[in-house]
Amino acid sequence: MAKSTERCSFCGREKRETLMLIAGLNAHICDACVLQAKTIVDEELSTRSQRQSPDFKLHKPAEIKQFLDQYVIGQEEAKKVLSVAVYNHYKRISGQNANHDKEIEIEKSNIIMVGETGTGKTLLARTIARFLHVPFCIADATVLTEAGYVGEDVESILVRLLQVADYNVAAAERGIVFIDEIDKIARKSDNPSITRDVSGEGVQQALLKLLEGAIVNVPPQGGRKHPEQRMIQVNTQNILFMAGGAFDGIEKKIGSRLQANMIGYSKDKKRDAIDRDNLMQYVAPPDLKSYGLIPELVGRFPVVTFVNRLDKDALIRILTEPRNALIKQYTKLFEMDGVKLTFEPEALEFMVEKAIEFRLGARGLRSILEAVMTDSMFDLPSKTGVKTLQVSRAFMEDQFRKERASKLKVA
Ligand code: ADP
Repeated sequence: MAKSTERCSFCGREKRETLMLIAGLNAHICDACVLQAKTIVDEELSTRSQRQSPDFKLHKPAEIKQFLDQYVIGQEEAKKVLSVAVYNHYKRISGQNANHDKEIEIEKSNIIMVGETGTGKTLLARTIARFLHVPFCIADATVLTEAGYVGEDVESILVRLLQVADYNVAAAERGIVFIDEIDKIARKSDNPSITRDVSGEGVQQALLKLLEGAIVNVPPQGGRKHPEQRMIQVNTQNILFMAGGAFDGIEKKIGSRLQANMIGYSKDKKRDAIDRDNLMQYVAPPDLKSYGLIPELVGRFPVVTFVNRLDKDALIRILTEPRNALIKQYTKLFEMDGVKLTFEPEALEFMVEKAIEFRLGARGLRSILEAVMTDSMFDLPSKTGVKTLQVSRAFMEDQFRKERASKLKVA
């Protein structure tokens, strides 16, 4: 215990003048000096990482795509489009740093990805961020509302980005934000009604400022802004925004646009060239507008691309091929217990069939595998002498009869 005559070795305050005096080996420190020292350390750390941020390595589109190929199966078109957009985006940033030609300002290439849920939109964005070593966060558009209404303000997106960047503002300002379910903030109807569309068009309006690049005041701890709060200023000019949405039923809008464009053609050649089974590949800004995104918002997402529905082959590949594929993860887990785990191809097929039947897509593969393997993962570590486990279709079917797996089925 510090005696009453003891003082802080840093500021000289006596114990009674402090809230707390912490004793060390041959010295004491008071609460005020602890806080001050913490501020000094934080500032130093933040300037160090800010100093480091400009050494940003620019990667060629082919390199970006090659990295994506390791984690994301299929979606070739989206990968290509994203790689180019991301390359251009970071070229634009490094151009600014290098004080290149100020006359030509390269615009931001925010990206919208359209396609069914669970097909890899978030995975693509996340993998790009991982490759570039930039902060990445996911924002759910459905929880956002216009300022002043129940829900989250759009600035909350930046709070999340700051948090993942450990409040290093410079790093956050080069980060990537993925806005999920952007289709859910589509305008509810074409008729302006008496009730305000605070979670639809209101949010779209609020997002405009963030997307185009502005200095935004962000409440560091999130929540609603209030006047006395200290704010962090974040410049969104170099933040890359990617958005994804299923846009249920957009094929109809694409179809009718293509149809309308066709009128006036003397021959039917062009019409025949259209692949009617996969209209999503023709998605373009006007379709997003007719779906209910306001033109200003569509304008701020100059790159529009799509992801394909995952078929059986793609799902099997997802199970086995990516660097962190589920089957690889499970094999590793069993290997740690000294057991060699293998799956017969028919067993994998069975799992994929169930994922499709249960309408779980790629997202469901993990829950299915988990449910099927639980008994083995429980028993094997206590059994001695078991060195191999070969999973067959019959084994899977057997496990599936148990309640654990069949409850995965969505109603
Ligand atoms: P979305 O954003 O399109 O709704 P996600 O990217 O969140 O879908 O996909 C959910 C999960 O499914 C991913 O975390 C990944 O494990 C798996 N997955 C989906 N699509 C792919 C793909 N094309 N390649 C590899 N894994 C995929």
